[in-house]
Amino acid sequence: MRGIGQAAEFYALLAGILGLLIGSFLNVVVYRLPKMMERQWAEECAELAGKTLEPIKVFNLLGPRSRCSACGHVLHWYENIPVFSYLFLRGKCSACGIAYGVRYPVVEAVTGGLFFFCVWRWGWSPIALAWCGFSAALLVLALIDWDTTLLPDDITLPLLWAGLIVAALQWNPGVNLYTALWGTVGGYLSLWGVYWAFKLVTGKEGMGYGDFKLFGALGAWFGWTALVPMILMASVIGALIGIAMKFSSGLREGGYVPFGPFLAAAGFTALFFGPQSILQFIGL
Ligand SMILES: [Zn+2]
Repeated sequence: MRGIGQAAEFYALLAGILGLLIGSFLNVVVYRLPKMMERQWAEECAELAGKTLEPIKVFNLLGPRSRCSACGHVLHWYENIPVFSYLFLRGKCSACGIAYGVRYPVVEAVTGGLFFFCVWRWGWSPIALAWCGFSAALLVLALIDWDTTLLPDDITLPLLWAGLIVAALQWNPGVNLYTALWGTVGGYLSLWGVYWAFKLVTGKEGMGYGDFKLFGALGAWFGWTALVPMILMASVIGALIGIAMKFSSGLREGGYVPFGPFLAAAGFTALFFGPQSILQFIGL
């Protein structure tokens, strides 16, 4: 049986390397997608006002090539190798010497680790591939929400549909279409209800529609029984980090703490340890 074990580790390693490359792309998505959304909104506003905006150069997820944001130096292929190039260049632009954020290699390494975990845990199988996609989407959503307080529909909605499809295909033994469907409905409506209750009482908006969609998506992937553990965990971590940020005066303008990253943290915990383990983590 030794041969089979080695093959499993080989595939996990292969997935890890693929994850590093995907992680490099996720950095591009996190940086560019919000800018593309803003551009689109600006174009729509201009159109309503009967104006046209100055055309811009091609800017999407595939082009232009990655460049230094300070000096515009276009990265050579060997300056764009996940993690290694960062270490090799000691985190600096080879042209102007400005320091690149440590987040780029961290996102690459984390994505590699997530992909390794999924294939190591579920083998070379459709469900492993599905969880890899889930992890990549969740990571991107957490980072974009943290940076911009946006949760793009372009990611939350496909994530939600993918969860329902995975359940319909019966890839995930723990979740069937019935539990996934009620997980989606319950996840979305529960936060929608909290949003309106909070708005009626305080007159403020405590979260956004993206949060409902993300929680609905998590319900699709883990089933309705995981909703309560996940929302408890997200709320507890969110409250703790919010208080910590308040004391360290790290709160941004308006004192708004995005909720998406904490929902994502709960989703990752459910992925690693199973949804019900969350209750033990938070001491219930
Ligand atoms: Zn530079």
